[in-house]
Amino acid sequence: LHLKRVELKGFKSFASKITMDLETGVTGVVGPNGSGKSNISDGIKWVLGEQSAKTLRGAKMEDVIFSGTEKQKPLGMAEVSLVLDNEDGGIPIDFSEVKVTRRAYRSGENEYLINQSPCRLKDVRELFMDTGIGKDGYSIVGQGKIDEILSHKAEDRRKVIEEAVGIVKYKSRKEEAQRKLKGTEENLQRLSDILKELE
Ligand code: ATP
Repeated sequence: LHLKRVELKGFKSFASKITMDLETGVTGVVGPNGSGKSNISDGIKWVLGEQSAKTLRGAKMEDVIFSGTEKQKPLGMAEVSLVLDNEDGGIPIDFSEVKVTRRAYRSGENEYLINQSPCRLKDVRELFMDTGIGKDGYSIVGQGKIDEILSHKAEDRRKVIEEAVGIVKYKSRKEEAQRKLKGTEENLQRLSDILKELE
């Protein structure tokens, strides 16, 4: 899987739309302190569904929207897209290119799109499960993350390994099925109580 392009518009310090085309191999981003290098990786995490403002180095989610400068007015919407090459079918979707977009408005509303079609956050998460891409995937290694993985509890290390071997999707489906099963069992119990009362 190759991340071909990152597009940011109204996200943090990027008021007007910027497009970064990424070649295969290693890409370095250089620039003075405070020029927005980390804002790019924040943008990538954000599209993948990050819900914690703190992880994105803000106080509240609205902080991801361009807040204006002396010369420019604040904007009402932030939008980030990732374009991935899917020629190898690494992402389970029938498209050779996958574009994932997230938009957020000051009202707090969020929109997710896969190849321009509106979808749920759950769809974005499922799309990337077991690919290693994802807000908690091993493809994003933040500052201090390696120390964290090495020193963390065995359970947390196991999560990283599970994502790498590709069983997260099945675990998540199993948990969902168990939740539904529990709900159904409770409904059945209620039904049998009502029947008993009627008898
Ligand atoms: P360093 O090399 O010091 O780590 P960096 O290049 O990674 O810096 P960032 O941390 O990505 O820089 O960018 C910080 C800049 O982004 C600050 O100037 C900050 O004012 C600006 N910024 C963050 N959020 C917003 C926002 N919502 N609107 C406008 N500017 C923002």
